[in-house]
Amino acid sequence: NGEKQKDDSANFDIGLQDVGDGTGIVTRFPPEPSGYLHIGHAKAALLNDYFAHEKYKGTLLLRFDDTNPIKEKQEFQDAIVEDLALMGIKADKVSHTSDYFKELYEYCVQLIKEGNAYADDTLQEKMRDERMKGIPSERRDSSVEDNLARFEEMKKGTEEGQRWCIRAKMSVDDPNKAMRDPVIYRCSDEEHHRTGDEWNIYPTYDFCCPIVDAIEGVTHALRTTEYNDRDAQYQWFLKALRLRPVYNWGFARLNFVRTLLSKRKLTKIVDSGFVWGWDDPRMPTVRGVRRRGVTIPALREFILKQGPSKNIVNLDWYSFWATNKKYIDPIAARYTAIAEDAKVPVTVIGAREGVITEEKDKHAKYTNLGKKKVVFSSSIIMEQEDAASFAQDEEITLMNWGNAIVRKISHSINPLAKPSGFKTVTALELELHLQGDVKKTSKKVTWLSTDQNLIPVELVDFDYLITKDKLEEGDQLEDFLNPNTETRTKALADCNVAELKVDDIVQFDRKGYFRIDKAFAHGEPAIAFQIPTGRGK
Ligand code: ATP
Ligand code: MG
Ligand code: MG
Repeated sequence: NGEKQKDDSANFDIGLQDVGDGTGIVTRFPPEPSGYLHIGHAKAALLNDYFAHEKYKGTLLLRFDDTNPIKEKQEFQDAIVEDLALMGIKADKVSHTSDYFKELYEYCVQLIKEGNAYADDTLQEKMRDERMKGIPSERRDSSVEDNLARFEEMKKGTEEGQRWCIRAKMSVDDPNKAMRDPVIYRCSDEEHHRTGDEWNIYPTYDFCCPIVDAIEGVTHALRTTEYNDRDAQYQWFLKALRLRPVYNWGFARLNFVRTLLSKRKLTKIVDSGFVWGWDDPRMPTVRGVRRRGVTIPALREFILKQGPSKNIVNLDWYSFWATNKKYIDPIAARYTAIAEDAKVPVTVIGAREGVITEEKDKHAKYTNLGKKKVVFSSSIIMEQEDAASFAQDEEITLMNWGNAIVRKISHSINPLAKPSGFKTVTALELELHLQGDVKKTSKKVTWLSTDQNLIPVELVDFDYLITKDKLEEGDQLEDFLNPNTETRTKALADCNVAELKVDDIVQFDRKGYFRIDKAFAHGEPAIAFQIPTGRGK
């Protein structure tokens, strides 16, 4: 299911300008290798891929935006490459912003020489205040020579140099605060994961992005709409440096209810041990949602269906899971699992002598899924919840077998249970009534013959990591972490479940869809994660 699928649900345009026949279109996906891809990143990647490769016959660039050595790691870069491949996205070229550190340095020198940038040692707090109030920095009109000398000190990483940064001389008081002399170079003595200790200065994202886009021949830079305010500075850099034009296009960032789509917050959750890792099934990462049971075609369809609209909405997971269900239903073979807790032994009167094994379709509708064994005998088990609902002489249906009449119910009184006197069914006797009409019974129950190797399986259901639909500015993440995100049920499954492999998607009758996270082996239970299909999950 890693196959790329073209689907008609995605057919939209963003009014790209001057595209001709489209072969000249160049888009790019610029992740920072500071975490694993989340589904928001997947949207950016899929949209860029769509315009480069499906809508037009253009070029897709993958560029690692690695200008902040503190947060970046090779591990993250490798994971990003793998996850893109998994989504069927293949970039035509791969590069790193750090490949251009020399050019970027030279462009900065050019800006300084032409009076378009200056060195500043204003303390951070004061600089922020001045920018807010539209007050010029004391250093704004320093001479070109002084600015160049200070930039050299920065480059050498001297103590003196480390006090300075470089700012573009755009405006002091533009109503668009992004235009108020943004910082374009800063010092850092961190080791860079690719360039090591070669550089003591690093360009900011705002400075790199337009320059590297222009150098690499990007024609259309798609960015989330939070960048709208920064489009003006992006264009300012292109103009000041006389670089080739790049067209900016904004699309809405992807948001989901009760979901963190910020690498900073996700990193916190991983580092604190609140989840098992970046691929935890509760994580909104590409790996996480896959592990939860999302198929790649469903992910692509759902995200491309959102299209490049600029409307920011807080999406409900419901429609996401509903899209996924379309893809998993035809591939999910059906099995039976019985919750082990207080399972009830049942004697079936009128069953054929001995143990009968029949070959049945794994899915009544999708017979291409193959056959499984169904074992019939007079000794079966059932779930307590079903057994406890039966009345004396009630006619019920044993799924995939036929009707039976409840002849004897044995109870024990559990003195600890509330309300007091709650009865636990300890055993049942059913009499087969195969001529009965299965359409006329209200209870269709699952059962398993004990005359087969019952396979232990742990069924795991997950909940949202956070308890609030949308975290607001100022909300402390810690205050909204859901303390209970995992429910485990021990169950016994039919003998066929022994053959299931990791990643298989199955359906347990009356329990829903599951993805096998760990296969049954050496007597250790299989582990199956519930795949949501409905509202609220
Ligand atoms: P985060 O805030 O999660 O760290 P980021 O933008 O800092 O995200 P990058 O690695 O720089 O992380 O992002 C790569 C690309 O993905 C960028 O083009 C960015 O705009 C886009 N992107 C990030 N989050 C979303 C989102 N929620 N929806 C759509 N696109 C997104
Ligand atoms: Mg970023
Ligand atoms: Mg961010």
